[in-house]
Amino acid sequence: MPITMPSSNGPVGLIVGVMFSLIAGFVVGLVVNFARNEREDEKISLEQKNVRLKEELRRAQSTGPGQSQDCALCMSQPLEVCLEPCGHVCCCRDCARKLSDKCPICRATVDRKRDIFIAGSR
Ligand SMILES: [Zn+2]
Ligand SMILES: [Zn+2]
Repeated sequence: MPITMPSSNGPVGLIVGVMFSLIAGFVVGLVVNFARNEREDEKISLEQKNVRLKEELRRAQSTGPGQSQDCALCMSQPLEVCLEPCGHVCCCRDCARKLSDKCPICRATVDRKRDIFIAGSR
């Protein structure tokens, strides 16, 4: 027994060793491939996110503070009237005149329509 064990264990051990290293290599290859794919996906989604953020930024800049916004009702005139007391600035002077006594944004009763003048808009 003690003599035959090493001789029969030798080739089996070798085969097991080779098989193990093959499997290990295969698994490592899979993991590396998977990780690389993950990174690629992440890169692509980051690029998409970047593009989307740039678009949002452009949109925000075109209608952001300091720029003249358009009337929420006719979409063609700049904002010129502040509704009180709710304080919504949402329409031009023409639309404010045609407006009922309800704010189109929050439906609060409008007591007063005050003209506003946005700095830099004209
Ligand atoms: Zn208007
Ligand atoms: Zn309002």
